[in-house]
Parts: sequence; structure tokens; C-alpha cells
Amino acid sequence: MIHKTYLEQLQTWDKQHLWHPFTQMQDYSRETPLIIEEGSGVFLKDVDGKEYIDGISSMWCNLHGHRKKEIDDAIKQQLDKIAHTTLLGPSNIPAIELAKKLVDIVPQGLTKVFYSDNGSTANEVALKMAFQYWQHKGCEEKTQFVALQHGYHGDTIGTMSVGGIDIYHKVFRPLYFKTHLAPAPYCYRCPLKKQPQNCSLACLEELENILKSHSAQIAAMIMEPLVQGAGGMIVHPSGYLSGVRALCKKYNVLLILDEVLTGFGRTGKMFACLHEGVTPDIMALSKGINGGYMPLAATLATEDIYNAFLGAYAELKTFFHGHTYTGNPLGCAAALASLELFRKEHILENLEPKIKYLQTRLKQFESLKHAGDIRQCGLIAAIELVKDKSTKEPFAWEERIGIQVCLEARKQGSFIRPLGHIIVIMPPLIIKEQELDRLLNIIYESIKVVTQDEHHLDERAFS
Ligand SMILES: *Cc1c(COP(=O)(O)O)cnc(C)c1O
Repeated sequence: MIHKTYLEQLQTWDKQHLWHPFTQMQDYSRETPLIIEEGSGVFLKDVDGKEYIDGISSMWCNLHGHRKKEIDDAIKQQLDKIAHTTLLGPSNIPAIELAKKLVDIVPQGLTKVFYSDNGSTANEVALKMAFQYWQHKGCEEKTQFVALQHGYHGDTIGTMSVGGIDIYHKVFRPLYFKTHLAPAPYCYRCPLKKQPQNCSLACLEELENILKSHSAQIAAMIMEPLVQGAGGMIVHPSGYLSGVRALCKKYNVLLILDEVLTGFGRTGKMFACLHEGVTPDIMALSKGINGGYMPLAATLATEDIYNAFLGAYAELKTFFHGHTYTGNPLGCAAALASLELFRKEHILENLEPKIKYLQTRLKQFESLKHAGDIRQCGLIAAIELVKDKSTKEPFAWEERIGIQVCLEARKQGSFIRPLGHIIVIMPPLIIKEQELDRLLNIIYESIKVVTQDEHHLDERAFS
């Protein structure tokens, strides 16, 4: 804990100088900032010594809890050798070992690992690889992409070009390259107004129509498999992913799977695509890659993609892309330790009962007046709050309903962050049953307090 006067100093500097991502700073400057000082297991501790259950795995990336000894030690050991060198030319030991380990666990066929720093760059790399692949293959007209509505692949201009979240992406639209957006299989709000019991995945037909008309111009389809994260934790019906795989094959379009969120156990299997036996042509990984310790990402490609870039130096077929911290040894060492924990601690096996337990506990939320849809996939859950369950009418954006629930949860000892009016529950994979209970109780109570006491609601929304 830190001294009170220094704490006040920190709070002032935070408001004066720190511009927080995805945050309306006008609101932030009126609230008391939450400043985290340390953490352990699923708990975060702020500068006042108050503890919070980390209900969103520190932005969806922490797997083994905070201050996990094995990962801490791996980083310290690597630090005693070297912190950073470059992959532009030389190689380094953790980067080589991790590439080998990743290839061993991803779907068969993905054999080449290209490192970068974060989820956005992993996808940016994937898009550029797909684009350049077709240039080398003599299909120069294949320059466009297909993506899903509500899709999210990062915040760079390239990844925003294939993004489908209007609230984030609209303002930059003039900067984007050509992307076709196919309807998302968002069953609660089906874009085709069908019922999931008997729709026969009609949304795949819409995708097929796009591919049928434009496949000569389309380089790749990019999507998040099984769960569209930032778009609202939209859980796809089973069969959708394998349907997309088949269509991409049929129309000679590459499939890029963005497993930045779903990778490394989140959905109950190591990778989401394994649920449907799908192998993409290119796969993007980041968030959980080293248990949520430091910036690291990888883009994996098939032999076929990689081979298209081989040629004489003068042919200029090189993949001209790379970041300063590509393949950082500390990040890779942490990733190796994280993968070792999967083996040693039987993370995936231990996840199964937890996922079932979460499923049972979520039923309780159905009784909430404003819980419109409750979705789950593995250790990802979301509660879509609506003003009126029967009409599915959403809350007005100005009501900041999700933010209010999270502020209430914070008071009660849990750190969560919403996606608009959608409450996200995504604890570290190692959360214990009683910790999960506590987290769910807090969220349940917070939703109740914020949505059912109208007076309370008004007071908060306009303060
Ligand atoms: C978070 C996320 C990204 C972007 O990753 P950053 O590390 O924030 O750049 C891309 N795709 C998906 C599916 C994500 O959840």
C-alpha cells in the first residue's frame, strides 16, 4: 500500500496525463480511478488494499492467475540471459522453442509461425499474408476480404477495415479497403429473422451469395471462430464454422481464423476451431498466448502460404513485415511456461467441470427481469441486458447500463468490464468453484441493484 498523499498525487497525474483506451475520458475524470498495485491468483488489489476478483481475466488474456510462480520464474530466468534481441536476422532460443510447441498443438497443417506483439498485428499480418499470397499466385485481382458483421479483429486501419462493429468502426470508414460483410450468426437477434431451431443456418447462404458473386476478387475470409468477442460475446450455433470452411474451399478463398480471444483453452479446447475439426489457412493468436503476462502474438500459416513467398532475392517475394519486438524472448519464455502449465496442471481437463458448473449457475440469471439473453461458450459467458425482455428492446446507450453494473460490481469486490449493455464474465481458467460463486453472486446482485431500482438508475446515469 502506498502513502495517502502520494496516492492523491497518482490520481491527479492519472487524470492529467493518462489517456485510457476505449474510455470516455470526460466520464473517467469524474470518477475515482481504480489503480491496481498488485495481484495474486484471481485477485487484483488496488492501492487502498481492496481486493477484486478479476472477472474478465485482465482484458480476456489471463489464464493461470496473477503472479503464477512458474511464469514469474521463467521470465526471471530469461531476464538473466537477455531481455530482447531481434528476429530480423538472428533467432533466439525461446522463440524457436515456442514456434515448435505451437505447431505441435495447433490443427495439423499450420506449420509456420510469424511473431508480432498483439492481436491487432497478428491479424494485420494475416491479412497482408493472404493478400500477398494471391499476388504471388498470379491472382492479382484477389484484393478484397469477407468478414462478419459484429466482428472485431483489432484497432489498426487494416483490421478495422474487416471490422463489423459500427460504434467503433464507423468514423474511420473512409480509410478502409474493400470488405464484404456477411451476416453474423447472432441467434438472439437473427439478422434474417429466423428461429435457430429450424433455420438450417440460412446465414451461410448469405455468405455463399457473396462468395458466388465476388470470389474472383476475394483473397480471404476472416472471422472469430465460435465466439465473436468484442461484438458482444456472440456464440455461434454449431456447424457454422465448418460450413464457412467448406464454402471457402469451394470458392477458393483463404480462411483466416482470429483465435486471439478463443485460443488457449477459453472455449474448453485448446483452440475453438478444434470443436469442429476445422483447420484454417492462417490463424492469429495473442491474448492467452503467455497466460496474459506480456505483449506477444503469433500468426500461423500453412506450408502452401509460406511457399508462395519463396523466390530469388531479386524477385521481391519477401514478406516485408516485422516489428521491433517480434519474438521477444521474455514473452516467448512466458509462453513456454504457460504451455507447460497446461500439461502439468491438466488445465483443459480441469476446465470441463468448471464449464458445466458455470452453465448451471447461469440459469439463475434467467429470473432477472432485464437479462434478455444469457450466452456461454467454455469459460466465456455474457448476459445481454435489455429494457424489455419480450420485445428485446435494448437500453439506451446514454443510460450506460453496462458501465453502471460494473461500477456496482467494483464496489462489491469484482472487477468486470462490459461491452455496452452486455455484461461479460470471463475469469482466469484456474478460478476455483467458490471463487466463481462469489463472482457470479456479485454480478447477479449488481445487475439487480442497477436495473430494478429506477431511482438508483437515474441518479447514477446523470451524475
Ligand atoms: C482483443 C482482440 C483482438 C485485438 O487484440 P489486441 O491485442 O488488443 O490488439 C483481435 N481479435 C480478437 C478476437 C480479440 O478479442
